[in-house]
Amino acid sequence: MANLQHRLPENVPGDFFVDSSCIDCDTCSQLAPGIYRDHGDQCSVHHQPETDDEIRLAMMALVACPTGSIGSTVKHDAHIGIDAFPLLMDDEVYFCGFTSESSFGGWSYLITRSEAEGGNVLIDSPRFATQLVKRIDAMHGINRMLLTHKDDIADHERFRKHFGCERTMHAADGAQRLGVENIINGEEPVLVDRDILAIPTPGHTRGHMVFLYKKRFLFTGDHLAWSPIRQSLTAFRSVAWYSWTEQIRSMEKLLSYSFEWVLPGHGNFHYSNAAIMRADLERCVTWMRTRN
Ligand code: SF4
Repeated sequence: MANLQHRLPENVPGDFFVDSSCIDCDTCSQLAPGIYRDHGDQCSVHHQPETDDEIRLAMMALVACPTGSIGSTVKHDAHIGIDAFPLLMDDEVYFCGFTSESSFGGWSYLITRSEAEGGNVLIDSPRFATQLVKRIDAMHGINRMLLTHKDDIADHERFRKHFGCERTMHAADGAQRLGVENIINGEEPVLVDRDILAIPTPGHTRGHMVFLYKKRFLFTGDHLAWSPIRQSLTAFRSVAWYSWTEQIRSMEKLLSYSFEWVLPGHGNFHYSNAAIMRADLERCVTWMRTRN
């Protein structure tokens, strides 16, 4: 819970505030950019919510924040934020909110499908928060869990235990040690089921993978995201823990696939039609080569 005594001076005066425990994950500024901003190495409130819609967004960020760093001086109904998650993004794909500190506020996603289509899928792990688990229960649980890489696994074991879901992860990121049921090896793409393709993309970590769903949604972990400042697809050179050269090679590999959504763990998500997305990806690869 946020502490008013530790309210950051960068917050504008008023009800909502961020305190000094903020870890600068940017979840709030991405979810509600009209209210929160990254002022440097932390986030703060730059506009106090006034309308019902703005209060809802401010409360959603409060719920999604991994460290409980957002507070308000006026009491608001917590369900305004809680009930907004999972948040529908497009078709049957949702953002889970409730990010976890252990994955540095990484975003996770839920795909809802009928049993005949293979059942629901969780991509990376949110916080195992009772309110979220109840809502996913009501949406018919989770059949499958896809883990992009070792940094964003958070509460995967608790989700596995509660929902009995099968986890998929790459061997090179320690899948066996973690007790993962479906382990991917090597660098060739693997069909996880009819609609989900696992594509190994070493770079950020050795065993990083992205998951392509229905040739529309690319769940990119920490491999690929959108930069609102550069208005382009981007990758994070400073956190290419395994190899930036390998990450460029992995990015080139993605040019063989068509998709419309980039849904990352960290960084901004992005939608565009497939042709524009491909042109953006080509520009991203060119830009990455200049940073080698
Ligand atoms: S969501 Fe929380 S931890 Fe993340 S930047 Fe905002 S206030 Fe900081």
